Amino acid sequence: MSGFVINLGTLPAGRGRIRAVAEPSQLDLPAAVWPGEVRGDLGIDRTGELLSVRGTVQATARLECVRCLEEFDLPLEAELAVVADRAGGPRRLEEDLEAGSYMKFHDGRQLDLGEETREALLLELPITPHCREDCRGLCPRCGANRNQGPCRCERARAGAGPAE
Ligand SMILES: [Zn+2]
Ligand SMILES: [Zn+2]
Repeated sequence: MSGFVINLGTLPAGRGRIRAVAEPSQLDLPAAVWPGEVRGDLGIDRTGELLSVRGTVQATARLECVRCLEEFDLPLEAELAVVADRAGGPRRLEEDLEAGSYMKFHDGRQLDLGEETREALLLELPITPHCREDCRGLCPRCGANRNQGPCRCERARAGAGPAE
């Protein structure tokens, strides 16, 4: 079972800390894009059936650079903030929630943070991934990866002298 499923039967009242580990596939994250484990460092505050979770989740995404089209691994860290109450319990007002928190419901036995973890990580994915800040990309003329040195056009231009 995913480490992001918190067993409420053994979770003590008050503040605690949980380190969670899961395989990406357990969180519906495809292994081709998420090559490593997903880890969480979560602070949990329990008052009766009300749970407040705050912490960070980490994973590595395998992405394709938009400039040079090479694959690279990007470590990601996302904030997680979840407030959960037992389904069917007394209703709580929106104002009781800390800013940025999200209310979900648990069944009194376990709290599954898998969905929130997956969504938090997906939000961290860059829209235009770069393998590095100064990636030189592909040559628009010959298509060579210019991170690997001058392409043949650049060499030809250099050979032609400063006139061009
Ligand atoms: Zn690149
Ligand atoms: Zn070129």
